[in-house]
Amino acid sequence: MPNRTAIITGSTSGIGLAIARALAAEGCRIVLNSFTDQDEDRALAASLTEEFGVEAVYMKADMARGEECRALVDHAVRQFGSVDILVNNAGIQHVAPVEDFPPEKWDAIIAVNLSSAFHAIAAAIPHMKGAGSGRIINIASAHGLRASPFKSAYVAAKHGIVGLTKTVALELAEERITCNAICPGYVLTPLVEAQIPDQMKAHEMDRETVVREVMLAKQPTRQFVRVEDVAAATVFLCSDAAAQITGATLSIDGGWTAQ
Ligand code: NAD
Repeated sequence: MPNRTAIITGSTSGIGLAIARALAAEGCRIVLNSFTDQDEDRALAASLTEEFGVEAVYMKADMARGEECRALVDHAVRQFGSVDILVNNAGIQHVAPVEDFPPEKWDAIIAVNLSSAFHAIAAAIPHMKGAGSGRIINIASAHGLRASPFKSAYVAAKHGIVGLTKTVALELAEERITCNAICPGYVLTPLVEAQIPDQMKAHEMDRETVVREVMLAKQPTRQFVRVEDVAAATVFLCSDAAAQITGATLSIDGGWTAQ
């Protein structure tokens, strides 16, 4: 996919970084993003250039702030001349009963996991329309299709982004711009990996048992999804073969939502 520019929000770790690497391997120019703005972030972009021979830059933007989401797209277009692929991936989580859920955590999760996609999509559409094509991929979750207790904001945001995906797909259906959502189950990212020791202690179980019986209780395969699986699906949705796939939710969840 040479000469295509891909913005991946929240892409300095986990799923976002795997998607950036997979799109770089396809020859895309890459815009990496997070809100941290550290030397390591820029080094990560340089490592993509070195490994895949593509242009790659790091751009700081706090996806909790609408104006920064829009500025990220504008900045990328100024630097590379286009935005052909937009992957809305940035996401955060907080777990608490709804009556105790801190309102500021609710606001932050809705902002980062849902409103950021609205702002970035709105900013990208004129450029994609101008180019006559585009791909928008929203990293939702199995929690965009199913609920779990104590995750009210996350589940609301992920259900919201599935609705946004379908609406944008319909609005752009005749523009050769597709918009789809990927709905992963549990993916073994550093964030999830870090929870395993605590869960082992809390449940007095070994690693294997805690993963099978606690973390993957809802995932019939009892295996984590790999970041590379989500990245490969993203690459497919960006391909010509996926031109007629729009407004879809693609589950990669080991059978979770088949239940
Ligand atoms: P992660 O914590 O490894 O990555 C999240 C990324 O978002 C990081 O790069 C972080 O810097 C960035 N980010 C967070 N807040 C931001 C902000 N305000 N502005 C800009 N960037 C910000 O987590 P992950 O597991 O790779 O999650 C990526 C996406 O996949 C999220 O939307 C998450 O909801 C979704 N997801 C994850 C899983 C899972 O099991 N890991 C399952 C389903 C969906």
